[in-house]
Amino acid sequence: MALGHVASRIDTAPDPDGVMSTMGTELNRLEVNSLVALLKPGSQDLAIQYLSFESKTITLVEKLVKIKMSDYRLTPERYYFYQENIFDRRPIFTTEPILNVRTMLPGIPDGIIRQVGRSIGVKPETKGIYLPLIAEEKVLGTLWMWGENLEESDLPAASVFATQVAVALENARLYTITQQLAITDDLTGFYNRRGIFELGRREVERSLRFDHDLSAIMIDIDHFKLVNDAHGHSVGDEVLQQLADRWREALRGIDIMGRYGGEEFLVLLPESGLSTAKRVAERMRQRVVDVPFYTSVGEVSITMSLGVALLSGKIMSLEELIEDADKALYKAKRAGRNRVAVLGE
Ligand code: GH3
Ligand code: MG
Ligand code: MG
Repeated sequence: MALGHVASRIDTAPDPDGVMSTMGTELNRLEVNSLVALLKPGSQDLAIQYLSFESKTITLVEKLVKIKMSDYRLTPERYYFYQENIFDRRPIFTTEPILNVRTMLPGIPDGIIRQVGRSIGVKPETKGIYLPLIAEEKVLGTLWMWGENLEESDLPAASVFATQVAVALENARLYTITQQLAITDDLTGFYNRRGIFELGRREVERSLRFDHDLSAIMIDIDHFKLVNDAHGHSVGDEVLQQLADRWREALRGIDIMGRYGGEEFLVLLPESGLSTAKRVAERMRQRVVDVPFYTSVGEVSITMSLGVALLSGKIMSLEELIEDADKALYKAKRAGRNRVAVLGE
């Protein structure tokens, strides 16, 4: 019954990490610890994706064994029940989970193994259940549960539970991919218009709430119609693609890069004031103007105009910020193109 309750909670998690942490938190309430390891695509190795302990504990264990959890791989040799769980797809109950801890850490002295065991709640009276995670006939990985009040008779319920976890993980993974596709532009890999608005609104809200700077750069390629007229639409597309790659290298991970329209782009720069944004815009311009693009018909050179705006006193929404950046962009066009402009400067 308790596991049934946990299963109903994880169904509502929005992504795989959410599924695992909801599961772990709920199992902790039952005084059960848990670990999820998933198969690396195209390999027999499992990577640990979730461990139901605070990062403090995980760091301590990492120090003890001198391995980072994110680098660690559970190979068939390092997992005591690999054959049963992964190949035979069978659940396992054991009264000696320490055996598995030992197998996981070959060459590590016994004293350290016991210390690791204690840190993650593996005591002499602890029992463990090891389950395959199977969704649509495919083994995704394994779920481990350990605690003092687990019994062998829990195995059937635990197996049903593992199936529910596997299905929730797979659903969440597919949902995340679909969500990602719906907000991504195919050609450039940037956010599409929908993505810009979805993430941009969130960013505007955050900046207003914490009183942080947020700048926008609106970009339109100069006379891009001429590129298409001279070389064809597909060469125009090649240019857009390469342009996106150059900008990706020039920007930070937290910057939101979007394709606003055909050959119009919008970049949102969190934590950046006007002077930083202007510098970034100038760098983006130079990256494009200084070196021609090498396309299937040879070199193509382009220029572009950029408008910069800042979220501030009278500009309090994403729509207003975009409008301001757009006006600045047209100022740059009117002033002769191939330049960066800001309203009121
Ligand atoms: P300017 O912005 O300097 O005023 O001139 P422009 O020629 O770039 O004019 P405008 O921005 O109004 O028009 C955009 C042109 O860009 C129209 C179209 O030929 C081209 N374009 C828009 N989207 C795409 C696209 O996805 N692929 C390609 N190849 N061309 C596009
Ligand atoms: Mg345009
Ligand atoms: Mg244009």
